[in-house]
Amino acid sequence: MARIVMKFGGTSVADLDRIRNVAARVKREVEAGHEVAVVVSAMSGATNQLVKWCQELSPLHDAREYDVVVATGEQVTIGLLAIALQTVGVEARSWQGWQIPIVTDGAHGKARVESIDGSLLIERMQQGQVPVIAGFQGIEPARNRVTTLGRGGSDLSAVAIAAAVKADRCDIYTDVDGIYTTDPRIVPRARKLDRIAYEEMLELASVGAKVLQTRSVELAMKQRVRVQVLSSFEDKPGSLVVDEDEIVEQPIVSGIAYSRDDAKVTLRRVPDRPGIAAGVFGALAAANCNVDMIVQNIGADATTDMTFTVGKADLARAQDTLEKARAELGFEAILADPEVAKISVVGVGMRSHAGVANTMFRALSEKGINIQVISTSEIKVSVLISAEYTELAVRALHTAYGLDGPAA
Ligand code: ASP
Ligand code: MG
Repeated sequence: MARIVMKFGGTSVADLDRIRNVAARVKREVEAGHEVAVVVSAMSGATNQLVKWCQELSPLHDAREYDVVVATGEQVTIGLLAIALQTVGVEARSWQGWQIPIVTDGAHGKARVESIDGSLLIERMQQGQVPVIAGFQGIEPARNRVTTLGRGGSDLSAVAIAAAVKADRCDIYTDVDGIYTTDPRIVPRARKLDRIAYEEMLELASVGAKVLQTRSVELAMKQRVRVQVLSSFEDKPGSLVVDEDEIVEQPIVSGIAYSRDDAKVTLRRVPDRPGIAAGVFGALAAANCNVDMIVQNIGADATTDMTFTVGKADLARAQDTLEKARAELGFEAILADPEVAKISVVGVGMRSHAGVANTMFRALSEKGINIQVISTSEIKVSVLISAEYTELAVRALHTAYGLDGPAA
């Protein structure tokens, strides 16, 4: 017997038939003798609609009321799923975030979970009842207000609940059947990974692999929650996200991710003196622009070029901010290029192997792809290239690192 948290995303509860399908899956686990708690998202599209209504009324709406509105999507699905479970003879009851409670800070719209008391849920599970819990929701006790955890936050809810009830596993049911070596839409010979390390998943999630919300992986890693990603539509094993030690044969590179969410900014002829980087990135931070890759070279004639990436959504704000600081910083021009892609290869095996980056550079050069910016971490190498070569680069790298599976 195991204690399992099952999480179903928006596409898995998109209509009544799918909710019945979810109920059947939950019933199967219950009948296998497991203790089960379920976490659900809103029906797919529901949260988008709720967000839109708030924005239409007022672009600068009260974030506390926004949370009241967007949290309702999950209230609908917990009630419906509880009914569907009862209909097939499974004892179930719904729980909103505040009823457990899932205690968060007061950062409305992107609240952080502070604590969850799992004892009530455990008690109910031991009595044979299935708690059906609203993902995404929390409560801020000081002001007694409903909060939400940020878009995609029900993954985080599921992992946090799994930690709180000391679950053996957190199963995330979604519309893909696992975690792949890369996006199968680009590389049909991408392979499903049986296991992937937390750190690898974290890097992949943060550079564009959209299966799991990044914060949920962070929490799983911290609390050592075993996470399984699997399909809610097909019956096959998924991918397990686990501790590095649990992976017997570690490939050097486990996955390749891409993102077209960033834009490149270059400041031409920045004075080469102390305080300039602090001035540039300080101004950007104050304007809430997230900076990712940064390169600066040795300059000639006491100036240098400085290149970095910001989220595409922040590009206009970044340009505006830098333009305003131009006199003070003393650079010559701002060049912006939104047509870039960041390609990343990730693997814990990199720690103990040399030449990983070079394989990447060679594979790209063989395809005539120019590398604009490079950055590395202990288990990741990322390059910035022209966006038009995204697919070509991903395919070439997938082959270069020996990740191709049998022809589909
Ligand atoms: N319903 C919320 C959203 O669409 C939370 C989630 O689905 O994870 O962002
Ligand atoms: Mg999701």
